[in-house]
Amino acid sequence: MNHAGIAESMRFKDLIGNAGLRKSLLTAFRAGRTHSTYLFLGKDGIGKWTTARALVAAAWCEQPDENGDCGQCPSCVKLAQDVHPELRLVDATERIIKIDQIRELTEWLWLKGFSTGRRILLVDAAERMNPQSQNCFLKTLEEPPPGAVIILISANPGALLPTIRSRCQKVRFLPPTHAEVMPLLVAGGFHAEAGQALLQAADGSIRTLLRLLEDKQYFAFRREVVRRLAEPGDFFETGKWFAEQKEVLPEVFTLISSLLHDLMGLPYGSQPAAVDPEERTALTALAQRLHGRRMLEVLDEFVELRKRSATNCNLQLCFERFLLALV
Ligand SMILES: [Zn+2]
Repeated sequence: MNHAGIAESMRFKDLIGNAGLRKSLLTAFRAGRTHSTYLFLGKDGIGKWTTARALVAAAWCEQPDENGDCGQCPSCVKLAQDVHPELRLVDATERIIKIDQIRELTEWLWLKGFSTGRRILLVDAAERMNPQSQNCFLKTLEEPPPGAVIILISANPGALLPTIRSRCQKVRFLPPTHAEVMPLLVAGGFHAEAGQALLQAADGSIRTLLRLLEDKQYFAFRREVVRRLAEPGDFFETGKWFAEQKEVLPEVFTLISSLLHDLMGLPYGSQPAAVDPEERTALTALAQRLHGRRMLEVLDEFVELRKRSATNCNLQLCFERFLLALV
């Protein structure tokens, strides 16, 4: 099962994080006391889209229980097959949401003849609406048809027009805590400390965390990065190895960044979070070498490395320079 599969099939009760917020949303949706337009805010990969889908299923289910939807009634079956006539989804596959698409969705929202008088439109990554699309949508957001609910989702709401943002009820999602993702990690066979290290590497994103947990190669990759940072050995050879990771450079940088920030915040003498004892030994040695003022120099060098890597630089030389700051 891929991570999208896990996320999509989650029942309301199984969602991770933001429990209080989810509960109040469900209560409002079940009672029909909703706002007409919502803006779900918060960083990528923390469950805004998944929550919106599970919320609709739990609110419309004909025989709901304390876990959310039943998964079997006609409403649940139609939602699971993406053929429910009262729900429209705009997922994040297209780069831009064009005005024609907004016109078509607006017509659908105003369509007469819905037996239950309700309909919901979910728009993921709503900032993909270009200015024309946003302006076209404005009037409907201001005065939606009776019974309609529009949920816009965005990790980058600053890209939405202020007039759009001001018409929406804002719902802010927070990244999960370590305790909240612990059941996922336990199911994956990881202990608490490894969980902490992985959540940091995932930068708080549940989606990234799920991907890491299922990616067998990730751990070999991580082990190699940590080993080479802790003991660069031959700079030329190690710099060359990092330069060869060009295809996965964002992952390399995310990992290094999470390791450095973890080490920087560590009180002297305490142990860094690690996925296994071997990694802990390597990171502890690195932490001891880097404590105090030198850590800031290393962070400066890291910022420089990232900056240069975005230009047409010699990547191997850039990494060699960064590795020099580590010894
Ligand atoms: Zn149901």
